[in-house]
Amino acid sequence: MPRHKSPTRRRMLRAEVTRTVRTSPSFVTLTVQGPDLADFDPMGVDQSCRFFFRRDGQRELAMPTASHNGWLAQFMLMRPAVRPWVRLYTVRAFRPEACEMDIEFVLHGDHEDHGDAGPASAFALHARPGDPVGLFPEGIGYLPTPAAPPQLLVGDESAVPALLSILEQSPPDLTADAYLEVPTGRDIRPVAAPTGVTVHWLPRDDHDHTAVPGQLALKTVTSSWKLLPGQRVYCWVAGESGLPTGLRRHLVKDQGVPKSDISFLGYWKHGKSSPG
Ligand SMILES: Cc1cc2nc3c(=O)[nH]c(=O)nc-3n(C[C@H](O)[C@H](O)[C@H](O)COP(=O)(O)OP(=O)(O)OC[C@H]3O[C@@H](n4cnc5c(N)ncnc54)[C@H](O)[C@@H]3O)c2cc1C
Repeated sequence: MPRHKSPTRRRMLRAEVTRTVRTSPSFVTLTVQGPDLADFDPMGVDQSCRFFFRRDGQRELAMPTASHNGWLAQFMLMRPAVRPWVRLYTVRAFRPEACEMDIEFVLHGDHEDHGDAGPASAFALHARPGDPVGLFPEGIGYLPTPAAPPQLLVGDESAVPALLSILEQSPPDLTADAYLEVPTGRDIRPVAAPTGVTVHWLPRDDHDHTAVPGQLALKTVTSSWKLLPGQRVYCWVAGESGLPTGLRRHLVKDQGVPKSDISFLGYWKHGKSSPG
């Protein structure tokens, strides 16, 4: 089974922010809209996009224009003064009839003065209707194995948008254990999941903010989730890179899960800015 699928046809899409909603203390949802989104071809429930936005002080959003993979060379050749920021985000919801997309951002770092919040987190916190953005569709990693119908779904807060999208759009007969780690108990919300899904919210409630996201989920799943004898389970794990790599190692080595039944996606690295 492939572990990732990329779009075969894609181009740069321009849009603008039309709405911002503070979903909970650690999340903000931006709705973006524009006629270009008529060309967005959804591939699956954890699809991501490259999200382009202006740097501080830039009046215009200058965007690479090349389709397919040509954009990157064009992007690298842009003068630093005009080159936009770009980060990867999950498509939380897409409404083709309105050419509208929701993206849910984790707010991290010091939100009051930006601190080391990261440009995307700061942009989401301060975004206003009318802000121009760009989108370049990327692929999907949620590719359940037909031979392994039950599922184990695990993520830190950066994977919560993908996990919620997966659960909300699952077939009604899905059976799964879903572990969602979040910064605080106030980030827990109702989930519209099939009845066969057990949702385990894991709030860190770490008042010193010293814990590395994903480690609580890694520890919890490693110590409490067990593969039954003879069972095949499709596993999807995403978040800070220590979570997917650590959990995959455990599932393969200690529980005998075939590598082909695991999709593991490193979304970001603790202490390192994403390139772009
Ligand atoms: C396929 C894919 C889908 C993704 N979907 C989403 C999504 O839907 N929502 C979402 O919020 N993120 C998502 N991410 C993760 C997101 O791309 C990264 O968190 C990104 O680094 C954020 O950019 P930034 O500019 O805020 O911070 P950066 O400039 O990249 O990093 C600045 C500092 O913040 C730290 N940092 C980065 N992200 C986090 C975080 N989440 N929590 C705590 N510290 C962090 C870094 O280690 C660094 O020290 C996804 C990543 C991938 C690969």
